[in-house]
Amino acid sequence: MNVLIVYAHPEPQSFNGALKDLAVSELTKLGHQVEVSDLYAMNFKAVADGGDFQQRQDEHFLKYAVEQKHAVKTESFSRDIEDEQEKLVWADFVIFQFPIWWYSMPAILKGWFDRVYASGFIYTRENRYDSGGLKGRKAMLSVTTGTPKGAYMPNGMDGDIHEKILYHINHGMLYFSGMQPVEPFISWTPSHDEDERKMYLEAYKQRLHTLVEQPIISYHPKDHYDENHQLKKEYQ
Ligand SMILES: Cc1cc2nc3c(=O)[nH]c(=O)nc-3n(C[C@H](O)[C@H](O)[C@H](O)COP(=O)(O)OP(=O)(O)OC[C@H]3O[C@@H](n4cnc5c(N)ncnc54)[C@H](O)[C@@H]3O)c2cc1C
Repeated sequence: MNVLIVYAHPEPQSFNGALKDLAVSELTKLGHQVEVSDLYAMNFKAVADGGDFQQRQDEHFLKYAVEQKHAVKTESFSRDIEDEQEKLVWADFVIFQFPIWWYSMPAILKGWFDRVYASGFIYTRENRYDSGGLKGRKAMLSVTTGTPKGAYMPNGMDGDIHEKILYHINHGMLYFSGMQPVEPFISWTPSHDEDERKMYLEAYKQRLHTLVEQPIISYHPKDHYDENHQLKKEYQ
């Protein structure tokens, strides 16, 4: 299958870099086609602004999502956005490799979502979540943390990693776009212990060999919600 790795870490020798390199070599060995968007190496522009469009519907007042829709229709995104969108269309599976920064992702990756996950391309008023523009594709987060696993348990200081930290990405970005997110791969505090790092690299190798069989995170489809965006009683 075609695998896109969107990688966001400023240091190539980091543990995130090691996980990304491992994914490239293992997936290639397994016969998959692999593409990497190395956002720092690409100096990817993280800020969404008027420069993202080659021609504007309204030159006087920037309504970013309206211009995104216009750019989809007129094929007039800036080249860097168009390149990333083409990679997404090409991909069957997308891996996002990044460290948790401020309970979320590095700004360069958030900017990638702001700019590439465009209105009209990823979603419309009618088509989002289970009918989003990237339907048919799967995605996985591979993240590293600075605080230990205990902090991310349901009663932990940082909050449940699945429900409070990664939910806005898995549900709000990946599932919103029509992708099916699979269970994330988490390397807890890799900066602490060399033996644990080796263990994570070995475990990640196993994960990469079984990507296709990984369980999907189950979310409610759009029609389980009523007109007020509330879960219908029968699905609660
Ligand atoms: C702005 C900012 C905000 C942050 N916010 C949070 C937060 O909200 N929550 C949280 O939990 N953490 C937070 N952190 C911490 C951050 O998540 C961790 O520092 C990060 O996840 C560690 O991953 P890394 O790739 O940067 O590790 P690195 O420090 O780069 O790597 C760890 C070690 O792995 C070694 N290594 C590299 N390659 C290999 C290899 N092949 N084999 C074995 N060892 C190798 C490196 O040499 C290094 O010694 C934050 C950090 C920053 C900078």
